[in-house]
Amino acid sequence: MSAIVPRSDFSLLSANPALVYLDSAATAQKPRAVLDAMNDFYETDYANPHRGAYALSARATERYARAREAVARFFGVRDEACVIFTRGTTDSLNVVAAAWGRANIGAGDEVIVTGAEHHANFVPWQQIAIERGAIFTICPLTADGRADVEVLAALVSEKTKVIAFNHVSNVLGAINPVAEIAAIARSVGALSVCDGAQGAPHMAVSFDALDVDIYAASAHKMLGPMGTGVLIGRREILDAMPPYQTGGDMIAFVGDEQTTWNVLPHRLEAGTPNVAGAVGLAAACDYLTAIGMDAVAAHERALVKVAHERVSAIEGVRVHGPSAAERSGVLSFTVADIHPHDLATLLDERSICIRAGHHCAQPLMRRLGVTATARASFYVYNDENDVEQLVEALKSAKRLFAVA
Ligand code: PLP
Repeated sequence: MSAIVPRSDFSLLSANPALVYLDSAATAQKPRAVLDAMNDFYETDYANPHRGAYALSARATERYARAREAVARFFGVRDEACVIFTRGTTDSLNVVAAAWGRANIGAGDEVIVTGAEHHANFVPWQQIAIERGAIFTICPLTADGRADVEVLAALVSEKTKVIAFNHVSNVLGAINPVAEIAAIARSVGALSVCDGAQGAPHMAVSFDALDVDIYAASAHKMLGPMGTGVLIGRREILDAMPPYQTGGDMIAFVGDEQTTWNVLPHRLEAGTPNVAGAVGLAAACDYLTAIGMDAVAAHERALVKVAHERVSAIEGVRVHGPSAAERSGVLSFTVADIHPHDLATLLDERSICIRAGHHCAQPLMRRLGVTATARASFYVYNDENDVEQLVEALKSAKRLFAVA
């Protein structure tokens, strides 16, 4: 099984032919198309957008607007004003928890998250619940790591104001039934907030079809640049959300006593925007669209199937999470008697990059009964040879530790 994009599209990968990069769930490598688009913006159209009366600034404004259109297309959002550029998923989720949460969550209300959340979709909700005197409830998981929707449906009440959940678990690769959870939230008038950091890079996402209220994603996990992300929301929710920060183009008029706000999307984007980041994300979206998100998902599923079979066949290895058929391209595992950090260090000696630790998901680690796992994650530039090298390196690590 070959990669579905040429390795030569990625400067870092072609400059390091021996590198086996299996950490795309942490951050993905960048195709030249993304770097070129960002560079082109700096070299040809660079100026501060919005506030200039000169042609160059108008071009920068235009680049920013076109980037938003491309990103809206990729995420299946008809109303591109509902795509807010942020610094990333963490930023997007914190904005919603702080701005929406402060305005809509009161004492005695309930905030629900699942036990498989990344800290970025757990801690902001936990903290706003503490601040507002609300009840913080953790929805249990099914054996394979998805939100248990039967329990969730029974948990919710008119007190429930928010249900925050991941599209795909960054540890287990388990895929949540997003529309089903959104429907449960809607049945009690709660806000559904989906952390799409591990969804958007790996499968076709249509915000309108998923039917959630809020969807968040990071550019750097989907071949785009670091420091850029999106907060996508239904218009009536974003329109009613108080501004999170003030200043810059989010202002309509500043009086001595009061200030009025600009319309969406500007109202939620204070300060000089990261235009190059948006341009890079748009180029990444176009690059992924040219491959086809169904092809991306199918490729990862095929690789993870082989990896799942081969890795779990090694004695003493425990693979966490769902069956290969039900997961995206993430494989978390533990190896008896070898700490995940030691494993990652040994693999690094063979130029294999995997991640080890709690993956910013300590509540999930507790539920799995471990303190850390090793995680290999796959993307468009990985092939079966990468899986082979992973398997061989794991076997070798086991031999080494058996002798020690
Ligand atoms: N949510 C999930 C599921 C993630 O995997 C990550 C990053 O690993 C985040 C949120 C946070 O993303 P970022 O650090 O880009 O804000």
